[in-house]
Amino acid sequence: MAFLYSPYAIPLFVAAAIAAALAYYALCRRKQAEALIFGLTMIAQTLTLLFYGLTTSGANLETAYLFNRLKYIGVLLVPPLWVILALQYTQRQHLLTRRNVILLFLPAVVIFPIVMTNPLTEWWWIGIKMLTLNGVSAGVTSESTSLLYKLNLVILYSYMAWGLVLCVIHFIRHKERIYRSQTTLMIIAGAIPVVGNIITQAIRHLNLFPWGLDSPLFSLSGVLVAIAIFRYRFLDIVPVARQVVVDQMPEGVIVIDAKGRIVDANPAAQAMLETSAGSIIGQSLPEATQIPELQQALAEITRSGKNPQDNRDVALSTQDGERVLSLSVTPLRHKASEPVGQIILLRDISEQVAARRELEALYQQTELERERLSLAIRTATDAIVLLDTQGTVLASNPPARQILKAQQSDRFPTSVQEFLSQIETVAGVAKAEVDIGEQTFHIVAALIPGTGLVLTMHDVTHFKQLARLKDEFVATVSHDLRSPLNAILGNVEIAQEKSFPEEERLDALKQAEKTVYHMVEIIQDLLDLARLEANIPIEMTTLQLDELAREAAERLRRTALTKGLHLQHDLDRHPPIEANRQLIARVWQNLIENAIKYTEEGTIIVRVKAVENQVMGQVIDTGVGISHVDLPYVFDKFFRVRHPKIQETTGTGLGLALVKSIVEKHRGQIWVESELDVGSTFTFTLPL
Ligand code: ADP
Repeated sequence: MAFLYSPYAIPLFVAAAIAAALAYYALCRRKQAEALIFGLTMIAQTLTLLFYGLTTSGANLETAYLFNRLKYIGVLLVPPLWVILALQYTQRQHLLTRRNVILLFLPAVVIFPIVMTNPLTEWWWIGIKMLTLNGVSAGVTSESTSLLYKLNLVILYSYMAWGLVLCVIHFIRHKERIYRSQTTLMIIAGAIPVVGNIITQAIRHLNLFPWGLDSPLFSLSGVLVAIAIFRYRFLDIVPVARQVVVDQMPEGVIVIDAKGRIVDANPAAQAMLETSAGSIIGQSLPEATQIPELQQALAEITRSGKNPQDNRDVALSTQDGERVLSLSVTPLRHKASEPVGQIILLRDISEQVAARRELEALYQQTELERERLSLAIRTATDAIVLLDTQGTVLASNPPARQILKAQQSDRFPTSVQEFLSQIETVAGVAKAEVDIGEQTFHIVAALIPGTGLVLTMHDVTHFKQLARLKDEFVATVSHDLRSPLNAILGNVEIAQEKSFPEEERLDALKQAEKTVYHMVEIIQDLLDLARLEANIPIEMTTLQLDELAREAAERLRRTALTKGLHLQHDLDRHPPIEANRQLIARVWQNLIENAIKYTEEGTIIVRVKAVENQVMGQVIDTGVGISHVDLPYVFDKFFRVRHPKIQETTGTGLGLALVKSIVEKHRGQIWVESELDVGSTFTFTLPL
């Protein structure tokens, strides 16, 4: 190889340096999609100019011829790269499929070997020789060129024209000023080599340069494109959606073609698919991810083909818990034709899903608590009602509805209305006792500021009755104990009176003693009753009711006889019963004693009969009888019939109450049938 200085090489080297600088500048910014292609174009242009310069500086044919052929590396690559750049700029990336790109570079791939092998074949140049211009070495020239050479010229200029036309169409479509100036730059850049060529042809006869002006001027085109790209930053502005919105949006965007191959994907999509390093463009959709759940969903989307809309949520189990991706698929149509692909929007909705779940759980918990509270209020035996500030019922439970019978407070029972009218101005809690019909209620009103008030009503009727009974009982007991005490006092005074005859004083003492025994009897009966009512467990044994009846009758036979009464018994044998011997003996004792006490003449019959699964005891007399007015009260404590004949006899009025209490303690029943001056029949039954 041999070189010499040729001034014609200088413009070429300068242009090569400019192209190289532009290539370096662009490749440093190759993150911008179009900058990479521009950079590659500039490398190709650098090679063209560099090798052209070396051709021109070749000192012999061998050197010049070699570089003239090598120059074709760049010459062949620049036009297809320029077309790709123009397609990208004019938003026609979808045309840049693998097949189309291969087709674009096909002429270059075919022609380059032909050029390189020209010394053997002369399929390109015919008759190569050194060229001198104005006495200075200026590279090589040929006697003629092949048809292939001319065909290639047509192809290369078509490429250049294609790029130019794309820019012009873009210019016409985009009327916005900023786009206009950028596209103008692009058009000028595209037109410069063409214009250069025309000028070259026009001034050819002047023999100014050995080369066409288009070659160095293409670097000027490069400068203009660089200004368009990096100065106007059109590639940042024009495809705003692609660059700023799509690339920077948190949602993942994937575009697939009709065959399900990925043609575009933004960084967010790649992150969500967790793709290993490298681009997923060109892969089939399910191949783009290693996450099994996502793979399955994407495979289904691909299978569903051009089906219109598809929305689905995919739950992925990751190391830090669950992640949920929402996928929405929309078909892409080209001017209302068949879908040409699909756009898939991926959104990470893990946070929303987690928040929704939390909300659901919270709602369920609240619902459960509300349900529990409502159940508690519904099943409460106390009446509970919630009123608003206007006195309208907001909520109430069944007892409240039964008692108040209204949905508005001014229709409540009068006593409740009165209570409410008193508390209206009072804050806090108000309590009272109100009567509604036969019932008494303890009513509590709690004011809830801003809402109204809660009324609770507790039925205290039973306690009221108990309190009254207790008062009555205390009054009766004190009366029945005070009378004998007064009698004792009177007798003791007589006994102490020395002026009274001895006999009278002794008699008074005897009376006092009798009264004391009577009081002891009352107290004993009261204690027995209290013990029974206190529910202290009693000792049960197996016994025969008839046997106890016979024993009692035998014990009292003498007493009956002294009054001239016949005491008979009619006792059936029956299966033994479970009962307390002492208490059942007491029942017979009291009933037979009463029959003797309240009968003047006639017969007393003591009877025991087994009836079905019960055993029945009866004491029948032919005595004074009890009037129907008194009949309901004979089993009450301290009750004694107000009849002179009865008042003559001594008694506590507690005997029958005790008998009833004992029978009921044994789960039995007792009743009396009686007619005045005819006689009485006391009957009790005990379960077998
Ligand atoms: P007491 O006999 O001590 O007065 P009881 O409780 O045994 O008290 O009886 C209550 C009342 O019932 C008696 O005072 C009496 O008036 C009436 N009574 C009880 N047994 C008979 C009877 N067999 N015949 C008529 N009246 C009776």
